[in-house]
Amino acid sequence: MANRGDGAKKLAAEYFRQLSEAGETEVYLPPGDVRSLRGERTSRSASPAGPAPESSAAATASPADAPRADSTMKTPDTAAAPSASTAAPSAPDIPEPEIISAKFAFSSKATTSDMFAKSAGLETCTTLEEVEARAVVCQNCELAGGRTNVVFGAGNPNARLLFVGEAPGRDEDIQGVPFVGRSGQLLNKILEAAGIERDDVYIANIIKCRPPGNRTPFTNEIEACIPYLGRQVALIDPRVICTLGLPATQTLLGIRGSMGSLRGKIYVEGNVKVIPTYHPAAALRDPKYKRPIWDDIQLIKREYEKA
Ligand code: SF4
Repeated sequence: MANRGDGAKKLAAEYFRQLSEAGETEVYLPPGDVRSLRGERTSRSASPAGPAPESSAAATASPADAPRADSTMKTPDTAAAPSASTAAPSAPDIPEPEIISAKFAFSSKATTSDMFAKSAGLETCTTLEEVEARAVVCQNCELAGGRTNVVFGAGNPNARLLFVGEAPGRDEDIQGVPFVGRSGQLLNKILEAAGIERDDVYIANIIKCRPPGNRTPFTNEIEACIPYLGRQVALIDPRVICTLGLPATQTLLGIRGSMGSLRGKIYVEGNVKVIPTYHPAAALRDPKYKRPIWDDIQLIKREYEKA
């Protein structure tokens, strides 16, 4: 007969599977929790001789070591690596984020002093193809001289969920498609693990041509290029926008701040929500960013499904 312990184990196994599919290789747990997951007695119920001394390694568990959510997997000794299932995992409990009433820089209510309001004549373009045709011949900033391709954007032109990153990297410049390099592959894994189809969303950057050496775009380059994104947002008309990284977050929200202070919140204007998270490249540089990205993606998925 199933008991509460089995239920908790299944939930833990599902949670570890999601982390693994998001690219996580290690999770850190209190030693007592590790023993509980392994089916060992905790100190409260240990024999009078007491538990074995903790080693620091005992507090580290790998998602690949987690018991799978089937009744035959009782201990990590018999557990196999989580499957590469693409089924949408159930959303874990998501802490209620702060809701902030915002005035987005790309809003139709933006003033003429806002950079998005400088439409560069793109308001006459009524389709994404027309906007792209203008972008591919654009010489409005010095990045035009170093590009192989203009990376305009890709995905569902009627997407309810739009991802906005910073700028193309080397692979994107070569292929002319956003998020196809290592960051894009990680983003794909995260979306797949969250049950979000990449083909259902639209992905673009605030800058359409690759900055040399993948440096952060200069303000004058963002100002020159942002009308393209502004027109893309207007035509796609998404309900949820996920900004990836600080330049995209600050540009779309029109406010300053660190990613740590800007993420974990939902910014709302009318029927549009902006939810910032770290750029996947941050997680490639430092795995500590994987967890907050995963938490933010759960939030984005929830709002996307409501939209
Ligand atoms: S980065 Fe944008 S503004 Fe600069 S040349 Fe490319 S498309 Fe034009």
